[in-house]
Amino acid sequence: MSSQLQQALKKALELDLALDDQRLMISADPQRLKQMLVNLLSNAVKFTPSGGAVRLEVAVDGAAGVVRFAVQDTGIGIAPEDVARLFQPFVQLDSSLSRQHEGSGLGLALVRRLAELHGGSITVESTVGVGSRFTISVPDHPPQAVDGPQSAEQWDERQAAASRSLSAAVSADPGPEGARVLLVEDSEAGLQVVGGYLRAQGYEVLVARDGREALRQAATARPDLILMDIQLPGMDGLEAIQRIRAAGLHTTPIIALTALAMPGDRERCLEAGANTYLAKPVGIRALITTIAEVLAGSNPGHTDA
Ligand code: ADP
Repeated sequence: MSSQLQQALKKALELDLALDDQRLMISADPQRLKQMLVNLLSNAVKFTPSGGAVRLEVAVDGAAGVVRFAVQDTGIGIAPEDVARLFQPFVQLDSSLSRQHEGSGLGLALVRRLAELHGGSITVESTVGVGSRFTISVPDHPPQAVDGPQSAEQWDERQAAASRSLSAAVSADPGPEGARVLLVEDSEAGLQVVGGYLRAQGYEVLVARDGREALRQAATARPDLILMDIQLPGMDGLEAIQRIRAAGLHTTPIIALTALAMPGDRERCLEAGANTYLAKPVGIRALITTIAEVLAGSNPGHTDA
């Protein structure tokens, strides 16, 4: 028996399921869908005092083109000023009931990320002392279907490709014990912005401000991935990459970043031993996607930014 169910029984919560009997078809990773629902349901159980109720509703909204999964509780509720920060990583609201429960504050950030990876979204309605209702909406048909008529084979292939890319993105999710990224960068602003963003995504971030420091950190801290700026004072990034490889770190993924995209940059970076290369300015989204792809092993070395 799951611990959530035990907790629900102990608190004598009323559990209820309402399933729409309409045709229900979504394109989703079943394991991740389950993970989203389990996260919402366990929060609902956690934050609902004895004698309350938790309900899961699944309904098709044909007009909006979505399937909605709503988890409703009669729990402590969430204040309007807290709702906005609820989905940020590492947020735990300071209510006495939350303080009694340990948690990482990552559950809802992950649920939102998973919903977005499915082309969907998550919303919440809540009243303090009355209860909360979290709703995940997922497109009720695969997004590829809008491209016009296609054969069954094309359809199957697209479905398979969509599911592969989704699992790649999801399995690259760093999760609570995030992958360790060594950020090699000499500008304080760059360190702040990129470092802050990576941390918010759940990555553990180590910092080196020049090539020598990068070598030392790579050898001692054994990062899961290195983000290497090429223009560095003293030993530049290219030499640092070559030395890191020569020092025996053959498989640690390295993403090279150059400030001025010059012809031949890409080749020089790859020759030095980088797995891939991005030209600055790099959009944060492109950076995050590249990191996730490189960590998932689908080396996008051919993509020029
Ligand atoms: P945690 O792992 O700490 O539960 P979550 O991201 O799942 O992290 O939740 C963040 C915070 O949002 C919780 O600590 C709690 O304060 C609040 N919260 C989440 N779900 C509910 C709910 N159903 N009712 C009331 N508060 C909730």
